[in-house]
Amino acid sequence: MSGRILIVDDVATNRVILRAKLAAAYYDVIQAENGADAIAQARRGQPDLILLDVLMPDMTGYDVCRRLKADPATAHIPVIMVTSLFAASDRLEGLECGADDFLSKPINDLALFARVRNLMRAKFMLDELSLRDRTTSDLGLASVAEQAAELPPGRVMLVPPDQRTGRDWERSINQHSPLHCRIATTQDEVIAASADDLPDVYVIHTKLGGYTDGLRLVSYLRSRPKTRHVGIVLVVPEADQVKAAKGLDLGASDYIFDPVDGLELTARLNSQIRRKQISDRLRSNVTDTLRLAVQDPLTGLYNRRYAEQHMEKIAERARETGKGFALMVLDIDNFKRVNDGFGHAAGDQVLKEFARRIQENLRGVDLVSRLGGEEFLIAMPDTTEDQARSASERLRRVIEETPFCVDGLAGGLSVTVSVGVTLGNPDCVDIDHLIRQADTALYTSKSEGRNMVTLFNSAA
Ligand code: GH3
Ligand code: MG
Ligand code: MG
Repeated sequence: MSGRILIVDDVATNRVILRAKLAAAYYDVIQAENGADAIAQARRGQPDLILLDVLMPDMTGYDVCRRLKADPATAHIPVIMVTSLFAASDRLEGLECGADDFLSKPINDLALFARVRNLMRAKFMLDELSLRDRTTSDLGLASVAEQAAELPPGRVMLVPPDQRTGRDWERSINQHSPLHCRIATTQDEVIAASADDLPDVYVIHTKLGGYTDGLRLVSYLRSRPKTRHVGIVLVVPEADQVKAAKGLDLGASDYIFDPVDGLELTARLNSQIRRKQISDRLRSNVTDTLRLAVQDPLTGLYNRRYAEQHMEKIAERARETGKGFALMVLDIDNFKRVNDGFGHAAGDQVLKEFARRIQENLRGVDLVSRLGGEEFLIAMPDTTEDQARSASERLRRVIEETPFCVDGLAGGLSVTVSVGVTLGNPDCVDIDHLIRQADTALYTSKSEGRNMVTLFNSAA
């Protein structure tokens, strides 16, 4: 996994050293020597990560970070502040302006590479989801980026070495932010408490009581589908860089050193919670997008693409069971007149009502799809000729019998449908061929006066 990193530092020597280290690890490196240049390079170069010096002559790294995070073109790029300042208040200012982490100069290589790998992994995942989200918004649907403002309050599960430490953490978090915290001290408790109420983020100490090891718990949570996407902040004692790096590689999202500073923990939690909630939304939008890819938006029926896939399955099943199936093509009669006479919206209303009636008069196993326009395809597995005849005749009747409701038209609108039916026997399962047969039968229904059912006659 390589990626592009932007190094921002006003001192050339610092840039050269950092560049050499990163390039040796096959990262693609770009550079900027002041704040204004950094913002321009970030916009233009779209790096996957920014290493940002805090003290620069034209503006501070904090200001640069604030501007990057306020600009939609750069807000998603993770930022690591690089500084020789150590004070907790400086780290806090950095987190508050949206930085994802801190490294102190001189830079410890282990900490640097663990961070870089971790933040890039998170970014690549978000990039992928965002790309799909853009497709969603191209389709005219609200994208997650537009909904991100109203996210619910975050939920945290604390996993300390003992209850007392847990209560200390909870107290110091709640001094700064009203996050909902729960405490669990063993792996079993964590699993039980997560069963039906998953937190947005876990805070896990590396040293847990009993048989539980914090790092093992991290990799366990990452391996389970349910908890794979939950944020994990690892609490590492004695400024142990090696353990912190190992934790990140095992899948922790972030770490903090023990003794825990309440403000810093809260800031880190809030950034993890936000990231988790946004990626959750993106993920569920992706699911919606997949659904849309197989569904006709007007009627809610499956579309042609899905129907074709599904019919292959029906044919396959017919081969296995030896039972026949039926295909029907339905086309609304003189539908153009509905549009011409009452408007396109009335036409849409008829199409929706038509789809509803058809679905209600078939079995659950039958597949109804909209091929396009006012043309529909129905596939009925395990169906005999008699069953196909009576089903298609029933459908024809439920359309003709009751006028369709159309806004502003008292008494409704009479609609009829023509149907072509064909039977697939278990040996002859060329789906395209069968659809053509049903079409031929439909054409006969149309040419012989409409509002009728024709069964394809192979002898004709
Ligand atoms: P026939 O009985 O021979 O099938 O005549 P018809 O008028 O139903 O057939 P034709 O194919 O000439 O016209 C179909 C019309 O359906 C034309 C098109 O504008 C309309 N149509 C296609 N899709 C939609 C849609 O999504 N909404 C609406 N309101 N009309 C649609
Ligand atoms: Mg028609
Ligand atoms: Mg037509």
